[in-house]
Amino acid sequence: NLSDRLTASFSSLRGKGRLTDADIDATVSEIRRALLEADVALPVVRSFTAAVREKAKDAARSQALNPAQQVIKIVNDELIEVLGGQSREISWAERGPTVIMLAGLQGAGKTTLAGKLGRWLRDQGKRVLLVASDLQRPNAVTQLSVVAERAGVHVWAPEPGNGVGDPVAVARSGVERGRSHGYDVVVVDTAGRLGVDAEMMDQAIRIRDAVSPHEILFVLDAMVGQDAVNTSVAFRDGVGFTGVVLSKLDGDARGGAALSVRGVTGAPVLFSSTGEGLTDFERFHADRMASRILDMGDLLTLIEQAQRTFDEKEAEDAAAKLASGEFTLEDFLSQLRQLRKMGSMKKMLGMLPGMGQMREALEAFDEREVDRIEAIVCSMTPAERRDLSILNGSRRSRIAKGSGTSVQAVNELVTRFEGAKKMMEAMAAGGLDGGGMPGMG
Ligand code: GDP
Ligand code: MG
Repeated sequence: NLSDRLTASFSSLRGKGRLTDADIDATVSEIRRALLEADVALPVVRSFTAAVREKAKDAARSQALNPAQQVIKIVNDELIEVLGGQSREISWAERGPTVIMLAGLQGAGKTTLAGKLGRWLRDQGKRVLLVASDLQRPNAVTQLSVVAERAGVHVWAPEPGNGVGDPVAVARSGVERGRSHGYDVVVVDTAGRLGVDAEMMDQAIRIRDAVSPHEILFVLDAMVGQDAVNTSVAFRDGVGFTGVVLSKLDGDARGGAALSVRGVTGAPVLFSSTGEGLTDFERFHADRMASRILDMGDLLTLIEQAQRTFDEKEAEDAAAKLASGEFTLEDFLSQLRQLRKMGSMKKMLGMLPGMGQMREALEAFDEREVDRIEAIVCSMTPAERRDLSILNGSRRSRIAKGSGTSVQAVNELVTRFEGAKKMMEAMAAGGLDGGGMPGMG
């Protein structure tokens, strides 16, 4: 899979002190493949990889970071930037109701979104009216009424007097209703077709002109893959839109649609829809989408934390000591402290991609155990840490008192350390690389 391929491509850079142009080109072509696999549209992939290549080359000339980390960071930062960084607020009306019009293909998730928006806005104390301007599908009005009722907001449906059979008239009368009855927000649901179609677009344009919306939200099914660009362009050039909502992000879509729609239209993605339920809805997070596209878990966060706190030299020294059998509890303690600096280990491990199978082991991991070990080691004298064989009974009970533990706990630690040390020495003899975390097995 992609994550493995990228990791492989990054790891070929890992041993290098500097990045050559050829290294960068090779990695960029992996990234290009990754993006295409995530269904990002070709023109967007082209401009994206060109930007990454240029930045990576600049960085290679000026910085002294680990090359692999440099490239990952550049890719991630660039993705977040193209995805629009922080999502913006809805633009509220200065006076009267804020009118939000929904547009998009049939099945994109507009009517579902109307309910979600209704609920979300209601929870913020707003009075919301949903307007049923999809008169195309036989059940569309009923569907919106059901959704409105679940969301606890009102609905404006076509009835004699407010424009039966005419979606434009229903939209107009709905917004008038919103104004006369003091609603804060009016959400206008509209009809879609299975494909882009001139008649549908014309209807959307007439609704838009009748109600002058403050926001036109284009709802895009994240599962559509490569069609995202064509559909987005058709809506941009047709009715136009001020923001995008990505729906069905709960599926296995890799999120390429987000990058495509943003890259092609420049319109911000405001919300993500993540299920059929009313509350499966949130503000769009560019950073989460970036790691979804790269399929990297929170690898980047991990790298940044590691970079800040983990002293590579110290790790190498520890590995060397292990190899020569000189690794002591004192080294162990300093390794432990390095790890502690990196934050909760559970959280750390959880950030690694592909850790699903280890969930159970993670749950069982007890952070307090580390506190106890640290307390015991701290209660030893440096001489004791260097040579456990001098630990007689009275020294052990002094250590137990000093650390607030028991002699039994001290004994256990000593036994476990000796056992772990033997194992690590055997591993080191078999070629342990510098990344080992001694004693944590
Ligand atoms: P519309 O034609 O644009 O109004 O689309 P609908 O709101 O009727 O949604 C079409 C189908 O997609 C329905 O079965 C919804 O339950 C489903 N749907 C909408 N949004 C989501 C979502 O975010 N996740 C999932 N899994 N299904 C969704
Ligand atoms: Mg609908």
